[in-house]
Amino acid sequence: MKKHNFSAGPCILPQSVLQKSAEAVLNFNNSNLSLIEISHRSKDFVEVMETAKSLALEHLGLQNKGYQALFLQGGASLQFLMTAFNLLENKAAYLNTGTWSDKAIKEARLLGDVVEVASSKNDNFNFIPKNYTIPSDADYFHCTSNNTIYGSQMQDFPETEIPLICDMSSDIFSRQLDFSKFSLIYAGAQKNMGPAGTTLVIIKEAVLGKVSRTIPSMLNYKVHIEKESMFNTPAVFPVYVSMLTLQWLKDLGGISVIEKINNQKAELLYNEIDRNPLFEGFIANKEDRSKMNATFTITNDELKASFDEQLKQSGINGLNGHRSVGGYRASMYNALPLESVQVLVSIMQAVEKGA
Ligand SMILES: *Cc1c(COP(=O)(O)O)cnc(C)c1O
Repeated sequence: MKKHNFSAGPCILPQSVLQKSAEAVLNFNNSNLSLIEISHRSKDFVEVMETAKSLALEHLGLQNKGYQALFLQGGASLQFLMTAFNLLENKAAYLNTGTWSDKAIKEARLLGDVVEVASSKNDNFNFIPKNYTIPSDADYFHCTSNNTIYGSQMQDFPETEIPLICDMSSDIFSRQLDFSKFSLIYAGAQKNMGPAGTTLVIIKEAVLGKVSRTIPSMLNYKVHIEKESMFNTPAVFPVYVSMLTLQWLKDLGGISVIEKINNQKAELLYNEIDRNPLFEGFIANKEDRSKMNATFTITNDELKASFDEQLKQSGINGLNGHRSVGGYRASMYNALPLESVQVLVSIMQAVEKGA
């Protein structure tokens, strides 16, 4: 039976990408060698790395604008530390909108002062704080565009003179933004781009070289830029799959096309959550709702078992909410077809009717 994969991450990837990835593991570029048994410095793999980097910049509209793309390891979690290591001299400003922001703050505190400009932590992160002031003497401002666990998403980004850093792990390439506002963007691959094991970092070169500390090589963006993401052996398979996903997105028409489909999926599900008395959204303000991860609960506990059973019967996978929120979370990343959301909505309606 066809599965409808709403998993939050690692998550759904396009079928055609999985197919091509599987083929490359057995026979890469008709070489009769596997992608994962050849040198990362071979011509064929260097080309994969270069293509992946240039597609990432192209999708974001950042080619020839002083930005570099890197494919690093250590997940988005290492970026919490690495951003601070490379950019935090005295003081940095952070917006706390969820577990991941909170973890980023914890790492940055190891290296300097952190001003939390606003936080929704006391309300279990069920909204995005607004109207905060960013200190102009901070080295940078850090935010999380999409809060994967709680299901909230920033719709606007502050205007600020200081460098803007954003963790876009769970919504990169899902919607059009003016990406040139950001000095540094990072994203673990496994939410909307590829398998776990590589992290995309987009960095404006001009912001580097301003801190006085000695930066260990593996944590130093300049070293990785100079070595073209090959300072050490890169995660060849995750980079390859990411490249294929970025190509798939380009063939589809790019971010502007996928954004329309993502809007349709989110609208369909949120309309049902709002209409159906059996379900309730977790996020307090509707304008803060995430189009990638929709969080909701069932209002009648007696019907939970029946809902869960019907989800299972229909091949719906990965709908359980994160343990810190409970309830349900429907992750609707780029590769999830509209049809999967239609199936979910029809089950929500069937449970309401007592079917
Ligand atoms: C999943 C996630 C992370 C953590 O990513 P790892 O690659 O597991 O370190 C960080 N930030 C956000 C927004 C996430 O969704």
